[in-house]
Amino acid sequence: MKILIGDDSLTQRVMLEAIVKQWGFEVVLAEDGQQAWDILSGPDAPRLVLLDWEMPGLDGLEVCRRVRAREDQDPPYILLLTARRETADIVTGLDAGANDYIAKPFDNTELHARLRVGARMLDLQRELISAREALEYQAHHDALTGLLNRGAVMQAMAQEMERVKRDGQALQIGLIDVDHFKQINDTHGHPAGDAVLQEMARRIEAILRPYDRVGRYGGEEFLVLVSGEIADAQTLCERLRSEIADQPFVEGQVALRVTVSGGFVPFTSRDTRGANELLASADKLLYEAKEAGRNRILFDQTNGTGDSQSNTETPGARSKQRTAG
Ligand code: GH3
Ligand code: MG
Ligand code: MG
Ligand code: MG
Repeated sequence: MKILIGDDSLTQRVMLEAIVKQWGFEVVLAEDGQQAWDILSGPDAPRLVLLDWEMPGLDGLEVCRRVRAREDQDPPYILLLTARRETADIVTGLDAGANDYIAKPFDNTELHARLRVGARMLDLQRELISAREALEYQAHHDALTGLLNRGAVMQAMAQEMERVKRDGQALQIGLIDVDHFKQINDTHGHPAGDAVLQEMARRIEAILRPYDRVGRYGGEEFLVLVSGEIADAQTLCERLRSEIADQPFVEGQVALRVTVSGGFVPFTSRDTRGANELLASADKLLYEAKEAGRNRILFDQTNGTGDSQSNTETPGARSKQRTAG
């Protein structure tokens, strides 16, 4: 582990460096408080710090205060070194933000033990950070497919709708549902169904562009957010539909033919509809796609005005124009 030794006394620095190296630490030296602060503010800064209190210019206390004042997910562990032994001084040092305090002259074995405590605390801090990050990931992602979960994709949809209002670029909002999925479960078993959902998620993600979004909206239903005009989404969806329908899903020894149906509605900056209304419209189109024979994705061609005039299918499916209510 890397340790920063900040001390204005050359003798003290050399002595500390020698013993700390013996204990296996990688040493970075600072000759005064300013240098220590610069190193701690730089990239790849040591997380364990042995800091002299009395230094000209920026003293150890001020460095502690500055370190604590900044927003830091993974703050350093600071052991303050000083000749002051009074309780009041110890309190001042700890209040300034030092994690621990050792008075000169000190016993080497005590310094070693205190540095080990620091290293342990830093390890623990990293573990807590990883655990928190893992929880955060789990809170937003679906465990089976790794896609955004329902809550997270709804949030993404709200953000995208805000974006449309800001920059004017349209958004196409779609629900895509696996056809006759219950049959897959019933015929091949639930684990095979799970594997189909995983592969489905992989294929959808592979076709979407980095700025499109997708999440698992329900069991075998995905909410897809495609940026741009209807034509962009139609091209993308036709590729998606055929990528799914034409390439069998191989589960163990069986090659499964799987298709999807979908319904897409546009959202533009002039649109006054809310998320629920848009999703209800997409769901209605999805239902129509199922009724019309599945393996197709329908688009609501209203240009975001909210009044339906006609719906069209993806280019690859049989062309159809119809009037909706
Ligand atoms: P349709 O073409 O009309 O959509 O028919 P469907 O069979 O796909 O629709 P239905 O709603 O009848 O069935 C969906 C099934 O999806 C029922 C449910 O057991 C299954 N399902 C939901 N979540 C999961 C899951 O995580 N894993 C598996 N294996 N099955 C799931
Ligand atoms: Mg000093
Ligand atoms: Mg289904
Ligand atoms: Mg469904």
